[in-house]
Formats: sequence, structure tokens, C-alpha cells
Amino acid sequence: MRVPDTKENLDRCLCRECPSYNACMKEGMQGLFCARGKTNCDFERQGCFCGRCPVSTEYALNNFYFCNTGAAE
Ligand code: SF4
Ligand code: SF4
Repeated sequence: MRVPDTKENLDRCLCRECPSYNACMKEGMQGLFCARGKTNCDFERQGCFCGRCPVSTEYALNNFYFCNTGAAE
């Protein structure tokens, strides 16, 4: 399901607490990758919090690492 790019969803997004969220993402104030698509930053998988995120639950997302794979369809 597509996730709306809203402030409410951004506020609930757990990316900023995720171990894979890096300085480049932080500098760009990036997040809500499941709606906005993948990051333009270098990326290394170090764990993903999408599975425990309320946005993921609400929109029945069954993937992870949206920052690396792109927005949910
Ligand atoms: S999409 Fe997953 S891996 Fe990427 S920053 Fe968000 S929680 Fe972390
Ligand atoms: S599912 Fe992942 S990318 Fe989407 S809001 Fe939650 S933590 Fe952020």
C-alpha cells in the first residue's frame, strides 16, 4: 500500500532512531522513506526499525529497508 507523505506519518517514523540512520541522512533531515523513496546517501544495513513502526502496521507494509529499496507500493 502506498504511504501518504504527511507530517503525522513523519512524526511516527522510527528511522531517526534506527542504527542504519547515518549522519548524511540526519544532515538532510531525511525520513519516511516508505513514502518518500530511497536515500541519496551512502547506506550500510545495520538493522531496520520499520517492522516495529506504527506506520508500517497501519499500512500493512511487509518490507523493510525502504531507505535502500525505495517507497512502498
Ligand atoms: S528505512 Fe529502515 S533501515 Fe532505513 S533508516 Fe528507516 S528504519 Fe532504518
Ligand atoms: S515504515 Fe520505516 S520508513 Fe516508514 S515510517 Fe516507519 S520507520 Fe519510517
